[in-house]
Amino acid sequence: MTDSEFDIIQHYFCASKRLPRKDVLLSVGDDCAITEHRENQRIAITTDTMVENTHFLPDIRPADLAYKAAATNLSDLAAMGAEPAWFSLALILPKIDHQWLTEFSHSFFDVLDHYNVDLIGGDTTKGDHLSITITAQGVVPKGKALCRHSAKAGDWIYVSGFLGDSAGGLSLLLQTKSAVTKFENADCQYLVKRHLRPTPRVLLGFELAVSSLANAAIDISDGFAADLGHILQRSQCSAVIDLEKLPISQSLINVFGKVQAEKFALSGGEDYELCFTVSELNRAKLERALTHIGVNYTCVGQLRPQRSYHKKTILFKRNGEQVELDCNLGFDHFKVG
Ligand code: ADP
Ligand code: MG
Repeated sequence: MTDSEFDIIQHYFCASKRLPRKDVLLSVGDDCAITEHRENQRIAITTDTMVENTHFLPDIRPADLAYKAAATNLSDLAAMGAEPAWFSLALILPKIDHQWLTEFSHSFFDVLDHYNVDLIGGDTTKGDHLSITITAQGVVPKGKALCRHSAKAGDWIYVSGFLGDSAGGLSLLLQTKSAVTKFENADCQYLVKRHLRPTPRVLLGFELAVSSLANAAIDISDGFAADLGHILQRSQCSAVIDLEKLPISQSLINVFGKVQAEKFALSGGEDYELCFTVSELNRAKLERALTHIGVNYTCVGQLRPQRSYHKKTILFKRNGEQVELDCNLGFDHFKVG
């Protein structure tokens, strides 16, 4: 094989072990891909970019990188309640490294196969820094998408899984300045795995959407407080959060202690859990709808009407008492300090 752009695409990004999806009429190889969807479906579309040094340590394994790039996009689809369908992949590569491309593409197709997604196109170019951009598309029944703007005062606030594990894992890796450090301690291993291999809550999001049980949802990529803040802003609500209810793993507490674990849970990024709001009326039905999904979910607070402009939108309580928290509300690429 030569190192031409065409050969690279052909060799690494054309084939998957699975039969192609029936709704893909034209895939990699033409000027555009062509897909088809049913009359009663809507298409949800999202794009995420990962850049070396900003989103991942330079020595990250290509398999971990491919997994995470795919998972973060799947998580956005999950947060809309969409069923994943088609991906496009734009790669900027500093050089052609066949070992790297082999590991990257195998891992990438493993994730795509698992979620029944087809890679339908992309772009491959040379550049100074490794960068991966994925555009993910999913289908959601008409009128069922989970949005950020439709939460209501009185809704209960839920989160899936545990919060803060990914930030704990990242903190461990940053101490060693390497994404491939092997930790002896089982808690550390678990936290690093949650950072490198977060689980997109695709089934949970889809179930919440088709059952119409949730009024709003978001995936937690920038930190729970920050992402809940987006729902509050778009839905013009405020929130009361019971700190003792935050789902925090024993591993996170074992490694970092309770105080730091809570900080990670509130403002650490990249958990890719879902935060969703459910009306009092639908609360009782939630358990029945979600038992077969196999993901734990926890009620951590409630939405309130919007408070006056200068007041904080999230009120934190511990054992019923209001507490002031100095929590940095999540990660923002363009904020300094
Ligand atoms: P064009 O010049 O029309 O943009 P390209 O030469 O960039 O076409 O790409 C050729 C075909 O390969 C297109 O169908 C494109 O979608 C696909 N493609 C390019 N890079 C990738 C990639 N990394 N993964 C999947 N498909 C890709
Ligand atoms: Mg192109």
